[in-house]
Amino acid sequence: MTAHFWLSSDAITITQESIGAMTDEQARLFLAELRWGSADQQICPECGVLDRHYHIRTRKQWRCKHCFHTFSVTSGTPFADRKIGYRKLLLALFAFVINQKGIAALALRRIIGGQYRTSFTLLHKLREAIMLTTCQDQLEGVVEIDGGHFSGRKRKGRKKKKTKKENKQVPGKYAQHRNKAPQGAFPFHPNRRIIIALREISQETTGAINKYNGKPIGKGATRTVVAVCRSENNVDVEALIRKHVATSSTIRTDEMPSYSNVKLMGYIHEVVNHSVEFSSDEGYNENQAESFFSRMRRACIGIYHRITPKYMLDYATETAWREDVRRKDTKTQLTELFSRICRAGLSKDWKGYCHGNRRQVELLFQGNA
Ligand SMILES: [Zn+2]
Repeated sequence: MTAHFWLSSDAITITQESIGAMTDEQARLFLAELRWGSADQQICPECGVLDRHYHIRTRKQWRCKHCFHTFSVTSGTPFADRKIGYRKLLLALFAFVINQKGIAALALRRIIGGQYRTSFTLLHKLREAIMLTTCQDQLEGVVEIDGGHFSGRKRKGRKKKKTKKENKQVPGKYAQHRNKAPQGAFPFHPNRRIIIALREISQETTGAINKYNGKPIGKGATRTVVAVCRSENNVDVEALIRKHVATSSTIRTDEMPSYSNVKLMGYIHEVVNHSVEFSSDEGYNENQAESFFSRMRRACIGIYHRITPKYMLDYATETAWREDVRRKDTKTQLTELFSRICRAGLSKDWKGYCHGNRRQVELLFQGNA
């Protein structure tokens, strides 16, 4: 098979236009290269042998030289039984990657055409694939942890003017308190959830120097784990830390009482007092965790508008993935996404969604379960 100009490593930057100009066959071979790293060799999903398997061009499939299993580039992935063509699938993956905050199903529909539900399930299959293939290795080194309130905001009252006492409940001085329910406000909206983000900070530096404190500028967070909880209580928080953070790591949090046992659990605990500073004099901060919440808020306010608790973890892991690959180039992001898709296997919740298949349980993290 001859190498195509868009497949070679020094190819021109991949764009929406270059994908749009591909034929369906070219898009299929591009996906094959993304999946197997080469346009000439394939890995049989049945027996796992890497070889130049028999190419059945008319059926757009390969047949294994060893076990005679027939497979395509999407075999064993959530897109195994999709009805859209390969170019449309590639366009959808590309649109998902290049939109830094995520892409709404209606917006995707304007790119690939078809029905709304096609785009809707396609995007959810991507989120599910990212969620299922999140690396389970424990975070180590410096880990920043924080929780953020999402969804289920109480509606504004019918009357515009509030009494003096009600006005006092939300401190106006700190903008970050804006989205939190005022203390003592009960009941909370039943849809309110806390997303807890744990981010491992890279020890590498960019080579540049911070002109204010003379310290080298780091590369920020490289790995993120997220969980959805009912509240940021110490039972859930401690169970999360035990599960996801290697002992003797350094944990940075804010002054929330839920984190008061972190030192007793065998970690080094560095605290930043958010009511007076964003970074302590020693340089302790949790700005990478805040960076995740910043992107998450832009996604759930600006793009998705309404995220229900049932699927909140999907959106949170999507945003975590976007944060982690933020510094990589588009082709690397695309390769990373497609390798996740290939590892995820058939979709459990989204296969047959339009025929009534639904996720039955909410993916809530419970520390005492
Ligand atoms: Zn085989």
